Amino acid sequence: MINIPKGTKDVLPKEAYRWQYIEKIARKTAADFNVKEIRTPVFEHTEVFARGVGDTTDIVNKEMYTFLDKGNRSVTLKPEGTSAVVRSFIENGLFNETLPSKLFYLTPCFRYERPQAGRLREFHQFGVEIFGGEGADTDAEVILLAKTFLERVGIRELSLNLNSIGCKICRAEYNDALRAYLKSREEELCPLCRERAEKNPLRVLDCKDENCKKVTAEAPRILDYLCEDCKAHFERVKSLLTACGVEYKIDPDIVRGLDYYTKTVFEFVSTAIGAQGTVCGGGRYDGLVESMGGPALCGVGFGLGLERLLLLMDNLGVKVPEEPHVKVYVAPMGERAYEQAFRLVYRLRAKGVAAETDHAGRSLKAQMKYADKIGAENVIVLGDSELESGEAEIKRMNDGEKRKVSLDRLEDEF
Ligand code: ATP
Ligand code: MG
Repeated sequence: MINIPKGTKDVLPKEAYRWQYIEKIARKTAADFNVKEIRTPVFEHTEVFARGVGDTTDIVNKEMYTFLDKGNRSVTLKPEGTSAVVRSFIENGLFNETLPSKLFYLTPCFRYERPQAGRLREFHQFGVEIFGGEGADTDAEVILLAKTFLERVGIRELSLNLNSIGCKICRAEYNDALRAYLKSREEELCPLCRERAEKNPLRVLDCKDENCKKVTAEAPRILDYLCEDCKAHFERVKSLLTACGVEYKIDPDIVRGLDYYTKTVFEFVSTAIGAQGTVCGGGRYDGLVESMGGPALCGVGFGLGLERLLLLMDNLGVKVPEEPHVKVYVAPMGERAYEQAFRLVYRLRAKGVAAETDHAGRSLKAQMKYADKIGAENVIVLGDSELESGEAEIKRMNDGEKRKVSLDRLEDEF
């Protein structure tokens, strides 16, 4: 037997309808916010992520599935959606179309991580990116879209945590202060953070090492360093959310795992799924499009992990409506009736009515059991006596009601 690779999962039929359900709600929510779908390849030139995600991040340093293809080009399986969307946005000149450009995706992502609950090597994201919306209303809109989606799938228990990490200008000043602070406690940091403290000190705030966490708990706070513009932007995001009745918490520790963020960053976090509690993370990334070779156009977005969402739904006992059942089960009795039954089932299916019949020459009793198991709403028995009389009974299974219908009218009854 050959096993599935570590950190990946099959979605079996009894689970697939839950995926379809959340994907449908994702699409509907995007449409309600006037956000259009974009699909990009599963792999890209490695450079897309090295530049887009940033080469001091965990993703680029440790987690990417990177390999040389047969033409000796370095390619990488998409570890996240944003950089790929930005590459496509620039390459296809979408910035020449009406702005803001509002895009969403449903995509597999690949990261070489240690698998555990809510952490896989192949996982899936629902993501949204809005380009060309400078105002704080765009940040609020993206947050509201994520919140609406989460509420529609039945989750209200998440905490929305907000922070601002400033812009190029105020962050430079903050980085100096943070660097000086980290330098003063250098011996307490993990080796990687000692390196990061110089190159990209903000990354240290994201480290999960216990000692590093102790150091960063007392570090200077970015919120105290925001420039007037960033401060006003953040205030406006908060007031728009409040105007919509959305509660939030300010969490000065959120810096996000990717290098491209500016100003607003946010997370939807749950305490119900253990350590991997962040279901959705996002923020503003004003420099990214330009740094990847496009025009100076701002962006805001989020990525939401669907496996974590499903785990959370399980743990909270959120019910998903059951899959629609087969509408009609046709039970043939004998060879002559079989052809009639086969044809009737085909005609029903062709007109869009879910139908099933016997495939194994089973007894009537066994067929009735099977019809019950698949939840058939109606059963029609077709045997010699029905063929002779030219009539058959449609039995409605929930209340046992029966009605006689002539054979040539059976398919019109559904
Ligand atoms: P974490 O801190 O948990 O590693 P992250 O900051 O790396 O998360 P993002 O890059 O912001 O995560 O990705 C957005 C969302 O994608 C996460 O909030 C999470 O729901 C999901 N996600 C990220 N990595 C994984 C993974 N390895 N397995 C399953 N879901 C994941
Ligand atoms: Mg991660």
